[in-house]
Amino acid sequence: MSIAASDGKIGRMGVVGVLKVQRAVLRRCEQRTNSWEWTGRIAARRGVPAANELCTGAWTANKAAVRFARAPLGAASLPIRGKTKLEIRFWGVRGSIPTPGEHTRRWGGNTSCLEIRENGAPPIVLDCGTGARELGRKLLSEPGRELFLLFSHFHMDHVYGFPFFLPIYTPGYRIHVTVPAYSADEAREKIARYLNGVYHPTRLRELPSQVDFEAVRPGPAFQCGPFEVKALALNHPGGSLGYRIEVGGKSMAYLTDTAPFARPGEGVAAGQQEIPRESKVLAFLKDCDVVVYDTMFDEHEYLEKMTWGHSYPEYAASICRAAGVKHLVLFHHAPERTDEEVDARAEKWSSYEGMRVTCAKEGERIVVEPR
Ligand SMILES: [Zn+2]
Ligand SMILES: [Zn+2]
Repeated sequence: MSIAASDGKIGRMGVVGVLKVQRAVLRRCEQRTNSWEWTGRIAARRGVPAANELCTGAWTANKAAVRFARAPLGAASLPIRGKTKLEIRFWGVRGSIPTPGEHTRRWGGNTSCLEIRENGAPPIVLDCGTGARELGRKLLSEPGRELFLLFSHFHMDHVYGFPFFLPIYTPGYRIHVTVPAYSADEAREKIARYLNGVYHPTRLRELPSQVDFEAVRPGPAFQCGPFEVKALALNHPGGSLGYRIEVGGKSMAYLTDTAPFARPGEGVAAGQQEIPRESKVLAFLKDCDVVVYDTMFDEHEYLEKMTWGHSYPEYAASICRAAGVKHLVLFHHAPERTDEEVDARAEKWSSYEGMRVTCAKEGERIVVEPR
């Protein structure tokens, strides 16, 4: 298909026609890429077109659509920037290991991955667990070709999805990867260890997209497009970073893979004065609209596994309420937690006083409306 030809006639085709062409090409690209993304290098050696070559047509189609979307025609299709609306969508909510099956069908079995949106700006993706696979497919059906990917840490449940995230195989896609590290080289090296031809057939240097790396440490805020982002050190074996994201006066925070900052019987959850580390968390979460918090355990499980680096709802609720959070989302469900058990947890916490508390559900979207 010659997209160049349709590019010249774009005014007569209209944006709907262009997007139809684009989606058709993307669908074909995805169908082929899905089966070949595993074996990009091997396929290339055998003379089979690599996934990135197959995507070139889709990218060309997309450029045509983007050019049209930026033209002063068809204003209804343009991303409307005005009053800011913060959107959070859950693509993976499970902790530790993907859990497909009949007992996790309703709440979801994919591991950590969130999409953060503000009107038409490039999205922030938080972690790249197995939920990132479906997110990547969705992103390729949209005109945008840029995103910010922030990793909390490198335990496998947060990176499983990266080699299956289609934007990384799409020429022209710009992906800004932020990694807890001390330098950009170290950040790149952490991903390269995973995409090295051993754990996955593709090597990082072979990716056809534009991937750049930034290191992040707890400290001053940094910018991801329109989003202002801050990082906080969490309490997890090997370390993990929480993120607070603000845009247009709205805010969300993502604190996953963290044990409580105080021991049982002390600090905020015990109804006492916060300990010093909790003070930092309270300041970080202050007045946040939505907080997504690791509550993999219940209180009893936590007391048995205090060194595993995960929290429980009573602790998350105490510290979030003390910080003035408006909506707490219980996240990183334990692999063995069935749909019925998450139902019971959602029911129990729905009547919590002083703050809305819900359980993260795969596919669910939370919207913080303009004020
Ligand atoms: Zn995890
Ligand atoms: Zn972890």
